[in-house]
Amino acid sequence: MKWNRIPQLVSKNISRSLEIARLDEEYMARGHAFKYYPLAVARAEGSRVWDADGNEYIDFLASAAVYNIGHRHPEVVKVIKEQIEKLLNYTMGYFYEKEPVELAMQLVKITPGEFKKKVTFGFSGSDAVDSSIKIARACTRRKHIISFKDSYHGMTYGALSVTGIVKPEVSELVCPIKEVHFVDFPDPYRNPWDIDGYEKPDELASVALDHVERKIKELDEDVAAIITEPIQGDAGVVVPPPGFIKGLKELAEKHGVMFIDEEVQAGMGRTGKWWAIEHFNVVPDLLVAAKALGGGMPISAVVGKAELMDSVPPPLLVYTHIGHAVSAVAALATIKVILSERLVERAREVGEYVLKRLKEMMEKYNIIGDVRGKGLMIGVDIVKDRKTKEPDRATALKICFRSWEKGLVLITFGKHGNVLRIAPPLNIPVEDLDKGLNIIEEAVKDVLDGKVPDEVVNYLKGW
Ligand code: PMP
Repeated sequence: MKWNRIPQLVSKNISRSLEIARLDEEYMARGHAFKYYPLAVARAEGSRVWDADGNEYIDFLASAAVYNIGHRHPEVVKVIKEQIEKLLNYTMGYFYEKEPVELAMQLVKITPGEFKKKVTFGFSGSDAVDSSIKIARACTRRKHIISFKDSYHGMTYGALSVTGIVKPEVSELVCPIKEVHFVDFPDPYRNPWDIDGYEKPDELASVALDHVERKIKELDEDVAAIITEPIQGDAGVVVPPPGFIKGLKELAEKHGVMFIDEEVQAGMGRTGKWWAIEHFNVVPDLLVAAKALGGGMPISAVVGKAELMDSVPPPLLVYTHIGHAVSAVAALATIKVILSERLVERAREVGEYVLKRLKEMMEKYNIIGDVRGKGLMIGVDIVKDRKTKEPDRATALKICFRSWEKGLVLITFGKHGNVLRIAPPLNIPVEDLDKGLNIIEEAVKDVLDGKVPDEVVNYLKGW
């Protein structure tokens, strides 16, 4: 097993987690994971998780930005229990069900746009992205899709096809759809135009928009959609310059292209707005939500202008379990909790505090090249050299490994795999936040002092 050496390298007992990892390796297809360290989660509550050996952790990952309201929120657990006493689900493919309709009514209310909207459901960010592509193609009767390099949209066929971060030699193994064209996202920190996007945001936005418009023209205007994360997530928390998303929407309107706002990771309050697109004052044609929507239950949604949504005839959006009643009530409770606990505002306030603390660390440690994000969607870019900005994936992984040893769930991501991902629950207590941030600082120091063996990097896969 790949973790065989780990027990000699960590001080705590992880024997049960290791046994689960061993069986996973034996029985699970390797294509479904990037394993960071042998943590088998057995229990969770709020912003804490426990592994199979009873070790406790603060959760800075929230199961990949799923638990915006914390693990097992009592309101969500309560409605799930009530629902399973009545009905698990009955297919909406043939009849009617109240719970998903109520959820659709809520989603229409909390998403941007004062026009008449409709909703379709799925289970995972990926399938919702597929639905958005179907809708955009059906309503425009056009073929091509423009997406961004280093974007992540999911692993079903449509979503994989528009995902920019997977290396072509990997995705081409399974023949993704062909009519997808990748353009550069205006990353203020590292971009192909060598523009300092923090100093010159307008210049960066304008160059990137020209680049997109050229692509639309090259494709003879046969473009159905532009799909974008308003803030790129798995690319390493890339916040575009303020004018870019607005300019992109204007370009889409000018050329009759649907604008798909992909909020799977950034949505549901995470960035300090209900939807990240609201930072840019843009109203999208279609909005894709998932992850945090179900409060831990699998559910995704596409919300869009009614006439666009209805351009897809049945059965093209049918799944047997669509709008699953248990997931739907969990999602309704999740929305209620975000509103009643004022988690959108809290993400904004607490996010500012975390950014400040991380920027203080950046003053002290040269290996931190950039700290960026909005709300509690934050990335810490680990570099070999501040001037060259050369990414240091190995050091970032060592920081995560040490953090795990010290009781913090922390992973890396990003197009270079060198960005520490800070995505705790939005209602994480300040004491947990501080403890987590202190662990990161201690881990940074330990790595710099040579206390974490280089060898650990051989075992951690990561992005
Ligand atoms: N879009 C974004 C922005 C994501 O971050 C993810 C998951 N990392 C997805 C889509 C895919 O969602 P899922 O894995 O739930 O299908």
